[in-house]
Amino acid sequence: MPDCLFCKIINKEVDSEIVYEDDLCVAFKDINPKARVHLLVVPKKHIASVADIAEEDEALMGHLIMVAKKLAAKNDAKGYQLQFNVGKEAGQIIFHVHLHLMAR
Ligand code: 5GP
Ligand code: ZN
Repeated sequence: MPDCLFCKIINKEVDSEIVYEDDLCVAFKDINPKARVHLLVVPKKHIASVADIAEEDEALMGHLIMVAKKLAAKNDAKGYQLQFNVGKEAGQIIFHVHLHLMAR
């Protein structure tokens, strides 16, 4: 999506601190961290919101959680929060699906 900030980050057209990348997703540091560790795990496929995922995205969405779990362990997180904000009423400001990983 040409005007999507996270697509631009994925394509390296916009700088970010990428901490993980594979064929399906990237993870990078949130620019405005709300916790000691605050990463965003983002599918390379542009999907606006969890409200827009399809049946075919089921494994991809599971993959995001698996990657988040591994990144939490790598960052010595004992406990952590995984969060999807879905819709502007819930505080979603970037309309490209992303899983927040937040650990104190
Ligand atoms: P949302 O509220 O949509 O669930 O979360 C979007 C997140 O993206 C916010 O936590 C915000 O700080 C982060 N963010 C917004 N713009 C940028 C950016 O340009 N770079 C990075 N790394 N994070 C961003
Ligand atoms: Zn996008």
